[in-house]
Amino acid sequence: MIAEIVAVGTELLLGQILNTNAQFLAQELASLGIEVYYQTVVGDNLKRLVQAFQQAWRRSQVVILTGGLGPTTDDLTREAVAEALQCPLSFREDVWQEICSYMQRSNHPIPENNRRQAMVPAGATVLPNPRGTAPGLIIEKEGRLAVLLPGPPREMQPMFSDHVRPRLVQRTGHGVILSRSLRVVGIGESALEEKISDLIAAQANPTIALYASLGEVQIRVTAKAPTEDRARELIAPVETSIRKRIGSLIYGCGQDTLASVLGQLLRERGYKLALAESCTGGLLGSMITDVPGSSDYFIAGYITYSNEVKQTLLGVPEEIIARDGAVSAACAQAMAAGARKVSGADVAIAITGIAGPAGGTPDKPVGTVYVAVDAPEGQLVERLSLRGERAAIRARSAKVALNLARLLLLQETKR
Ligand code: ATP
Ligand code: MG
Repeated sequence: MIAEIVAVGTELLLGQILNTNAQFLAQELASLGIEVYYQTVVGDNLKRLVQAFQQAWRRSQVVILTGGLGPTTDDLTREAVAEALQCPLSFREDVWQEICSYMQRSNHPIPENNRRQAMVPAGATVLPNPRGTAPGLIIEKEGRLAVLLPGPPREMQPMFSDHVRPRLVQRTGHGVILSRSLRVVGIGESALEEKISDLIAAQANPTIALYASLGEVQIRVTAKAPTEDRARELIAPVETSIRKRIGSLIYGCGQDTLASVLGQLLRERGYKLALAESCTGGLLGSMITDVPGSSDYFIAGYITYSNEVKQTLLGVPEEIIARDGAVSAACAQAMAAGARKVSGADVAIAITGIAGPAGGTPDKPVGTVYVAVDAPEGQLVERLSLRGERAAIRARSAKVALNLARLLLLQETKR
């Protein structure tokens, strides 16, 4: 079965919001073994909306639209689909009563224009929306399905799961597409591809695909099978072969982040963590505290931007600043040692560098960053030469630092 996703909304075209509805629906459809060949984004314009829908309707058995079901005049999805499928709209008193009782429950006055949301195309099934006013709609015609869902994800997602997914399961031959993402750090996409090129060349089911983003690469292994268990069985040996090649460069899988994986290592060892940041200005602390439960191990982060505070707060010796400069291996090590000592932590990570665009010198161009880790397992310092804009340099520095700490705790630093 082939499905297609049409996201409606000018704000999507303007880049004001991210099309997370398409992501959610694509993942759901994949998990059902339903193929998706096209996704479309179209603005709040009746003519183009009708065209986009007609095109999708011709080439797919299921067309799922999100957005544009609201009460205002720029909400046109209902009208467009009714026009394209020649299913005239009519007012449904029962649907209107539902909308009214929702608004009374949430103490909203009932505006007249909400009546548009009670207009239902001939032959359509109405899907209740306990989290908003816009009901969903399903129209079955010519053996095909048009599914209209509201735009807000908190309304759309449960409506899909409760009412649409079961109907799709009925229609499919129960195929499952299962993906497993292995998260890799410390190697570029092309170097990684070389290491597993024969596996990629030999792929059929499962397939192997690489995705790179900001200092990380994901290897996604996707299997198609009649059941989830069978798909897992197909993935397992491929994952094992990949792990044999890449080893500890794989830091996690699925929803893992470097910070969550490091957090788990700290927790297992009963270690406390402190940070000393200069050019990342708190980014590392933000990544660490993005992880729920990080208070189990994270005790302090020092943002020491000036040379003076590196000395007074962390005890970096004046000679180091004078001799090597604040962007140096010695300074990074002294920052880490100082943060560990001042906070009483077991492990400290320090970052100092030049994120640019100004501040570079011939010896230390923009992108020169020193990362140090001080832990019971030993001390490590690394010089990085990063390319890119300020934001990318800072993000990469933080990830390298997290990874260095991870490898030190795993005693995997001499690879
Ligand atoms: P409403 O009744 O809120 O107007 P609607 O069904 O008309 O709902 P839209 O007006 O298209 O939906 O979108 C409402 C909000 O839902 C958007 O402002 C946005 O926050 C969110 N939204 C819409 N489409 C998407 C999408 N494709 N991905 C993520 N969020 C979306
Ligand atoms: Mg709207």
